[in-house]
Amino acid sequence: MLASDGPRSNDHFFPAGRFDIVPIQSLIAASLMDQLPIFVTLQGQSCLVVGGGDVAERKVRQLLAAGAAVTVNSPQLSAGLQALLDAQQIAVARRAFDASLIDTHLLVYAATSDRAVNHAVAAAAATALRLCNVVDDPAHSSFISPSIVDRSPLIVAISSGGRAPVLARMLRQQLERWLPLRLGALADWAGQWRDTLKARLPDVAARRRFWEQAFSGTLSAQVLAGRMQAADDSLRSALDAQADTDRTHGEAWLVGAGPGDPELLSLRGFHLLQHADVVLHDRLIAPELLAFARRDAELIDVGKTGGGPGTSQATINALLLDRVRAGKRVCRLKGGDPYVFGRGSEEAAALAEAGLPFQVIPGITAANGCGAYAGIPLTHRGLAQAVTFVTGHAASDDSTNGTEPDWAALAALGHTLVIYMSGRKLAVITAELIARGRSDNTPAAVVIAGTLPEQRIITGTLADIAQRSAEAGLGSPALLYVGEVVALAGALGWQPPAEAASRPSLELRPGDLQ
Ligand code: SAH
Repeated sequence: MLASDGPRSNDHFFPAGRFDIVPIQSLIAASLMDQLPIFVTLQGQSCLVVGGGDVAERKVRQLLAAGAAVTVNSPQLSAGLQALLDAQQIAVARRAFDASLIDTHLLVYAATSDRAVNHAVAAAAATALRLCNVVDDPAHSSFISPSIVDRSPLIVAISSGGRAPVLARMLRQQLERWLPLRLGALADWAGQWRDTLKARLPDVAARRRFWEQAFSGTLSAQVLAGRMQAADDSLRSALDAQADTDRTHGEAWLVGAGPGDPELLSLRGFHLLQHADVVLHDRLIAPELLAFARRDAELIDVGKTGGGPGTSQATINALLLDRVRAGKRVCRLKGGDPYVFGRGSEEAAALAEAGLPFQVIPGITAANGCGAYAGIPLTHRGLAQAVTFVTGHAASDDSTNGTEPDWAALAALGHTLVIYMSGRKLAVITAELIARGRSDNTPAAVVIAGTLPEQRIITGTLADIAQRSAEAGLGSPALLYVGEVVALAGALGWQPPAEAASRPSLELRPGDLQ
């Protein structure tokens, strides 16, 4: 994931983007975790640290900070440990390690500079079924200490499972910079109001909405600025306002997810997706995007396979209305743009007719996205001054719905044509265009699975593109580009990022929480 070329600043590693990798992995690949992260309550629990040097002392101080009763086992003690002993903050077994020391300690740390001793500690702990951490030696540890960002009571723990401690540390530094110092105070403050909120807003969804607004608005800004009285007052009036109006009505968000590459979702779409109670999604939506939905969100696949059976539009509309009426915030996540061959307008019409609120968030339509990734500009001075998007869906004699495109009119246009859903109709479409007068020499290209890692481009002319595509084994989804601009594909082609990890990841920004 990280480039190997020389040292770079943190900013270079984490430029503006998304912090997608951790949530995606934890949601999709939870079963592949090396370790289960847990937060252990240590107040009054006895813990053993074997070792008397600086490393041991650091562990001891962490354990004391968590309220543990710490015993140190070492013939010698650092000055700091000696001071802790003098202040009666730790107990010390001043002798060489032996297995009896494991005793009833809940956690054991092997922190000597002698590998053999450390391994003996680990073995003794394993025999006694105690959890043991061997400092800097994950292979011999039954638990490891994560990097932490401490905004108690809010604590972020980061681990790379011992594989990339530098990466974990860099992430920690990012979080340290991003998370306001008073974030803990914000968590405490929210905790104080929890019971009141529960009583005043018994509905879980209403409560969640309230907190989402509180944490992203002026309330949290007041707490973070230390203006607690003002924050309390604001919360009270916000609560009154919320209780007054019945906020249980839902809303629909028709969100365009773009042509395939999950990173082409708009920021607004991303934000709404994260807040939705229900996600109604098309078949081709990237799983990485669905992972951004809340864990408890209801995910419904209403996908249609190209021309094949799927959830009917009437059923989709009915589902949408039903969930919104039930007070849910429904994200209708659609491929490309909702209003380009997406039937989004039919869904909007159904919502409008039912008097239900909705928003429409545009997406990058396939013609734009695939053109950009395939090196085909839609217009280009001197080559094409206009572009027409058309669907070839109805272009066959077995078509049962939609009207046949006006091929004569389309052929007469000298500019760029982008034909959606053309996969199985390529031969028909190209023959029609040639028959109606478009030169058979016109450059043409088919882009398959555009913007995705498996993107393929087949180029040719109107005369041979259908044949070439058939030979290359056409896949789906596919778009047909026709026009002089297609000839630029070679010169303007570029290599899209092969995998998510090679893309920029998120720089967390202080403003995000305020
Ligand atoms: N609303 C969508 C279009 C839905 S129709 C949009 O704005 O893009 C589905 C058709 O779009 C597919 O049959 C195909 O022709 C085209 N399409 C969508 N995604 C594509 C992709 N990644 N690569 C090539 N064509 C795509």
